[in-house]
Amino acid sequence: MSKILAINAGSSSLKWRLIEMPTEKVIAKGSAERIGQKLGKIKVVANGEKTERESPVPTHHDAVEMLLKMLTESKIINDFSEIAGVGHRVVAGGEIFHQSTLIDEEVLTQIESLAEYAPLHNPAEAEGIRAFMAALPGVPEVAVFDTSFHQTLPAVNYLYSIPYDYYKQFGARKYGAHGTSYRYVSQRAAELVGQPLSDLKMIVAHLGNGVSLDAIKDGQSYNTSMGFTPLAGVTMGTRSGDIDASLVAFLEEKLELSVEQMTDILNTKSGLLGLSGISSDMRDLLAKETTDERAKIAVDIFIDRIVQYIGAYTAQLNGLDTLVFTAGIGENEAPIRSRVCQSLGYLGVELDENLNKAARGTEQLISTPQSKVKVLVVPTDEELMIARDVVELGKIK
Ligand code: ADP
Repeated sequence: MSKILAINAGSSSLKWRLIEMPTEKVIAKGSAERIGQKLGKIKVVANGEKTERESPVPTHHDAVEMLLKMLTESKIINDFSEIAGVGHRVVAGGEIFHQSTLIDEEVLTQIESLAEYAPLHNPAEAEGIRAFMAALPGVPEVAVFDTSFHQTLPAVNYLYSIPYDYYKQFGARKYGAHGTSYRYVSQRAAELVGQPLSDLKMIVAHLGNGVSLDAIKDGQSYNTSMGFTPLAGVTMGTRSGDIDASLVAFLEEKLELSVEQMTDILNTKSGLLGLSGISSDMRDLLAKETTDERAKIAVDIFIDRIVQYIGAYTAQLNGLDTLVFTAGIGENEAPIRSRVCQSLGYLGVELDENLNKAARGTEQLISTPQSKVKVLVVPTDEELMIARDVVELGKIK
């Protein structure tokens, strides 16, 4: 039995999960949030007990050291030698990384060199990796990239219709995101419908705070709705999704904003939050939808954009066998799944509303036996996918 740490470092947070392999049992999990602020928040869940405390966590390096110290002090592990491998989610893998990779000094330098594609994430992730390499010498460290699953996109789907040189010179193309989630969910959905993934025309809708859809053909990502960055595609919690690029320049001028300020508005003050003026959280909007016009329009637009992408991707796939919902909203919000599927009658999609209502954070087929498209809920598990990659690449028994 081996213990694997799966690490998900964001710009100001570090989430972790300790997973026993091959049983895939979660031994403990936790997070350090508000890294770099005056007072950080540290959460741990182990042995069914949840603890929370506040303490300064100046850097990601400190977060790693505190985590390792805590794991031994609270006897979650007896000593570091029990950690057989560490897997790190890395947001941007550019065109360099087509799959998860064992980390050495060269790989780490490449992750750092991709910082301009994910300025808030890659440097924080690289710092976390360095801290683990120093604290656990000889333990395999594996990088699992959000983008690598989408490196199979054909040029027709990853190129923008802008001068071709910008792609060659600056890597200006679609990279996509949520790749680890898609890899896990698509494999699991194929197992659940009992057919090889390579035989299925599948669309996965990852509906969380960040929202994207992926068209899967021949077992590979064929098109995906996020773009050069995770700002593109459908309406999200706080991100705009697709808009006319000219509107950016127009609003910058009207509001006298810098490019950075405008980009920040499109990332953090738009989407469901910007439209409703109430919340980025779908639960709040569904609760207010009947009494608040703007909550209603936000939810309507959210659903409409998903329906548009499903239509476009079905056309690109030349048909659809399997539609899968995942992530916070996809796993928990039956009304959203139902309303999306009501607009897909033309594809022969038929939901079993009772099964749909019953599916809450659980794996479930929610379409009727007559439905031409199998519709499923599959809770995503990026950390488990990371742990599996560590076991495989680290040749861990
Ligand atoms: P992230 O992209 O940050 O990982 P999540 O996948 O947790 O986000 O999704 C957040 C969204 O999912 C929110 O809009 C929230 O309303 C919805 N959501 C999350 N958990 C639940 C739940 N248990 N029940 C209903 N909706 C949920």
